[in-house]
Amino acid sequence: MHSSRSLHRKSKTKPNGKKPPVEEKKPYLEPDYTKVRVVDFDLKELVVLPPEIDLNEWLASNTTTFFNLINLQYSTVSEFCTGDTCPVMSACNTTYYWYDEKGKKTKCTAPQYVDFVMSSVQKLVTDEDNFPTKYGKEFPNAFDSLVKKICRYLFHVLAHIYWAHFKETVAMDLHGHLNTLYTHFIVFIREFNLMDPKEIAIMDDLTEVLCTPLPPAPQNHVTER
Ligand SMILES: [Zn+2]
Repeated sequence: MHSSRSLHRKSKTKPNGKKPPVEEKKPYLEPDYTKVRVVDFDLKELVVLPPEIDLNEWLASNTTTFFNLINLQYSTVSEFCTGDTCPVMSACNTTYYWYDEKGKKTKCTAPQYVDFVMSSVQKLVTDEDNFPTKYGKEFPNAFDSLVKKICRYLFHVLAHIYWAHFKETVAMDLHGHLNTLYTHFIVFIREFNLMDPKEIAIMDDLTEVLCTPLPPAPQNHVTER
């Protein structure tokens, strides 16, 4: 029996005139993998602005934390992410190009792209003028757009890990961490509208699954609380 195509949910065509996306297999959508998470509480509670905390302070500290965690998560697969395995920075049939300081589009491999991302974000979050930590120092006017820019870059890195390095992540048993980090990040992005929904749409299938609470564990045995 031929497999029917009734399961495919999306048939969006890219508006950029490129060839229509191939229905590629996305192992990260397998329920065996998506059910693995390291926390099972509502991550939204972690991201809402606590009372009496300044919004910019909150955005700054969360953005810095996500930068460190995503950098760490990428470092676990970085030895598999080379110019040969990943000649372009791709995720779900989308290719990301790096734009240099003059706004010039640069062709680069995925590891180069991630390197550009990590070094430029590192520079920003440790710059007192952009991410002030000293008492009484004001956040810059464009702080909001800086945070948005950083989130966009970090999203590209996460999407690339799922797209190109999920197998290695599973082999190291780190997919629960990746799923939790991704969900926490997306919930944060949505809470403060830090990315255009169109830009994160390439991962919507995963987001939908991961943002849905897991069904209660089967009641085979009684667990003492
Ligand atoms: Zn790669």
